[in-house]
Amino acid sequence: MTNQDLLAIAREFGSPVYVYDAQKMAGQYKRLQDAFKKVKQVKINYAVKALSNISVLKYLKSLGAGMDTVSIQEVRLALEAGTAPEDIIYTPNGVSLEEIETAVTLGVQINIDNLSILEQFGAKYPSVPVCIRINPHVMAGGNTNISVGHIDSKFGISIHQLPHINRIVENTGMRINGIHMHTGSDILDIDVFLYASEILFDTAKHFSELEFIDFGSGFKVPYKEGDIETNVEEMGKKLSKRFNEFCKEYGKELTLAFEPGKFLVSEAGKFLVQVNVVKQTTSTVFAQVDSGFNHLIRPMLYGSRHEIANISHTNGRERFYSVVGYICETDTFANNRRISEISEGDILAFSNAGAYCFSMASNYNSRYRPAEVLWYNDKAHLIRKRETFDDLIKNQVAVAL
Ligand SMILES: *Cc1c(COP(=O)(O)O)cnc(C)c1O
Repeated sequence: MTNQDLLAIAREFGSPVYVYDAQKMAGQYKRLQDAFKKVKQVKINYAVKALSNISVLKYLKSLGAGMDTVSIQEVRLALEAGTAPEDIIYTPNGVSLEEIETAVTLGVQINIDNLSILEQFGAKYPSVPVCIRINPHVMAGGNTNISVGHIDSKFGISIHQLPHINRIVENTGMRINGIHMHTGSDILDIDVFLYASEILFDTAKHFSELEFIDFGSGFKVPYKEGDIETNVEEMGKKLSKRFNEFCKEYGKELTLAFEPGKFLVSEAGKFLVQVNVVKQTTSTVFAQVDSGFNHLIRPMLYGSRHEIANISHTNGRERFYSVVGYICETDTFANNRRISEISEGDILAFSNAGAYCFSMASNYNSRYRPAEVLWYNDKAHLIRKRETFDDLIKNQVAVAL
């Protein structure tokens, strides 16, 4: 996918537009597969919430991925993409028993993350196998917004409550077929992750009918050149060895599962915007683009850094810009960023726009959500139309006043 390809896409489908490179996703999928090739049964469940376009789900399914879902609607999307129910794991947090019951009727793997629901569910459906989400209280990554394994996290059942879990399982006669952890995004230190895995192995010994152990996700991807990323290959080597040892101890060949979102799709995505106005103030030069946190909120929400390139003029003199949006709210994408000289009308490309970008987009300021394009076999395929005014008003009810 060259800059010329991207410019052609912006011309054909308009801006702003999200573009996803299928080949990049396939490359990441293969990297993960290769890293764990020493384990007999590996299941990679794509975390649908990162990017939930049905064509993306279909593509990842075609590579062999299962789906990791956090809402009943995501379960439906995964089914719609043709995923078999048994290849879908449903890992909600804080949802009602009714929603979980709907997931049971759809035949997907249930993953429960609190004692209250575990007890109610076990009493009502003792024969439906359940995975339990454990919180090992290990801090992966540095940002508490995206670390969900630590002591104050709302996610998972605390490892210290294992006796209570065991009592519920005994009293209800329910079947636990998997255990799971998801310690949060951005694993920087593999040893911390392996330490959490040991806690999971220790927990696993308490359950005799396991079929799989799910290590969640948290693979960090690079956001700029020289950025640290999770060393998936080294992690694969170390965890595979431990996993195989554990299976021997356990006396059964278990499936090793992962649920990467960011790792599979982040780097595959580009977000293309057009510069409306170049505005010189006393302190900075603003490049104002036809977007805002309504389309890409990560820089404002998490302080995430997305590389920005002027793909209309790549070889201009580099100048410093503040790249901001057009909504009536402070919507700074980047401050003081060195970018090839920008003219009004230029197309800027944001990198790492595959994960948690479109899926977090909104209609704030009554703007349309962008179109999405999949770059596949050297061709651009429109996979979501830009919204229209009809989309904005279709669920609104104009009462007679
Ligand atoms: C969000 C989420 C993931 C994916 O996390 P990434 O950092 O995008 O890989 C995996 N599992 C669960 C339960 C999640 O909520």
